[in-house]
Amino acid sequence: MTQEELFKKLIAHCKEYGFIFPSSEIYDGLSAVYDYGQLGVELKNNIKTYWWDSMTKLHDNIVGIDAAIFMHPRVWEASGHVGAFNDPLIDNKDSKKRYRADVLIEDWIAKQDEKIEKECAKAAKRFGESFDKEMFVQTNGRVLEIKARRDEVNQRMADALNANDLAAVRQIILDCEIVCPISGSRNWTEVRQFNLMFSTQMGSVAEGANTVYLRPETAQGIFVNFLNVQKTGRMKIPFGIAQIGKAFRNEIVARQFIFRMREFEQMEMQFFVRPGEEMMWWNKWKETRMSWHRALGFGDENYRFHDHEKLAHYANAATDVEFNFPFGFKEVEGIHSRTDYDLGRHQQYSGKKIQYFDPETGESYVPYVVETSIGVDRMVLQVLSAAYKEEQLENGESRTVLSIPAPLAPVKVAVLPLVKKDGLQEIAMDLVHKLKFSHNVQYDEKDSIGKRYRRQDAIGTPFCVTVDHQTKEDGTVTIRERDTMKQYRVRIEELEAIVADKVGMRRLFEKLV
Ligand code: ATP
Repeated sequence: MTQEELFKKLIAHCKEYGFIFPSSEIYDGLSAVYDYGQLGVELKNNIKTYWWDSMTKLHDNIVGIDAAIFMHPRVWEASGHVGAFNDPLIDNKDSKKRYRADVLIEDWIAKQDEKIEKECAKAAKRFGESFDKEMFVQTNGRVLEIKARRDEVNQRMADALNANDLAAVRQIILDCEIVCPISGSRNWTEVRQFNLMFSTQMGSVAEGANTVYLRPETAQGIFVNFLNVQKTGRMKIPFGIAQIGKAFRNEIVARQFIFRMREFEQMEMQFFVRPGEEMMWWNKWKETRMSWHRALGFGDENYRFHDHEKLAHYANAATDVEFNFPFGFKEVEGIHSRTDYDLGRHQQYSGKKIQYFDPETGESYVPYVVETSIGVDRMVLQVLSAAYKEEQLENGESRTVLSIPAPLAPVKVAVLPLVKKDGLQEIAMDLVHKLKFSHNVQYDEKDSIGKRYRRQDAIGTPFCVTVDHQTKEDGTVTIRERDTMKQYRVRIEELEAIVADKVGMRRLFEKLV
């Protein structure tokens, strides 16, 4: 199965089992907007808890807030979003399809990397055992040629974007002979800037309406509350403010399912530090955030950092945490050193002094900020794409299983009476009532036990508990584990503690501290 087929299957699976539906589906959907179903919302909430608690509980100097989506319009002038939150867009005149010009170039760059990999694979075949990939990549003429061209294009793109030189961006597309994937032609329009913010009106139009924006990031709600939180919480620098909330971007090209949406959710944390210490904190947060991802157990090789060539207008250092999605390594999280840009601009635009008096140095200053910014939906996609597996079993059958880390799984335990008689249902229901105070539990008595296991595998339930005739005799039940399919008997009284130990967030948190 190719990665593309796997991705298609995953999308279908998400719909079939109630994780994710297209928005307003009975009206044929709304582009790049999705709804979370009964299981999707549980997964999403668990991801949010994992993030929220790891920030606010594991760090005694990070607190949370929940700011409104609407903010004073001046906020977005101060932040630079009105003037500069743009993407360069380009249309293909034949297919009439619209693209992000920078993404077309990035895709071309990714293709060069694929070419290099192909050269390596060919050489590995030729040289067999003695093949030294590192050496080959450093010395092979063809590979060096591809690399040089890739790096040159990368640099040209960074320069063009930094200089806001749209004609130069277009020229790269022409020079690289990039074609429209739909029409196959190189008949491109000029490159134009497109502002990604959604706007709407506040107040009745007759009163003289005010344009307000749907926030394109949650961070500004934190910046404008910096003094409120610092003063009321008596916070001392360094400290952080965390927030989870919706953000909206009128993305030019929406694709790859919930990877790029027009309405999505962010988990952002702004960490306020002394000027001059931001690089130390930036490096520290890179490490902390990478451990948070890796603790999920999807394989360290599936993550990498990608440092930005083109820095946003507010940043002096930026990196992305990229995950190996079925469509390649892509950003799930950004870790940015935002300097004192945001607080400084709000100070300037609001006319209010936004400074911190540092009792240790006896100085007042505008704090510097290191932010970690991650998309909830991209995390959901990360978890689902890493967890989705089709397995061939020893008995010749196959199963589809979501190996979601137990602390994130939507349903933790399924309780299954072996048969629908002899009082087994009553015992099973009793168990459900006991377990439901601590866990999300499902009860299922329909179909054969094998079919019921498969249904739970498909939604990622880590444990099935079967009540059978022996339960009546000795008070034990069978636990069946999702990933290993191992079964063992335990006493009913021990069940809750056994499950709690395996599904609790504690398991993940212990890997972080
Ligand atoms: P991209 O380059 O993919 O557009 P970005 O660099 O603009 O992303 P940031 O502004 O750094 O993204 O936003 C922080 C995080 O918010 C991203 O790492 C991503 O997880 C999430 N995010 C941003 N845009 C979207 C979107 N349109 N849909 C879903 N998640 C998003």
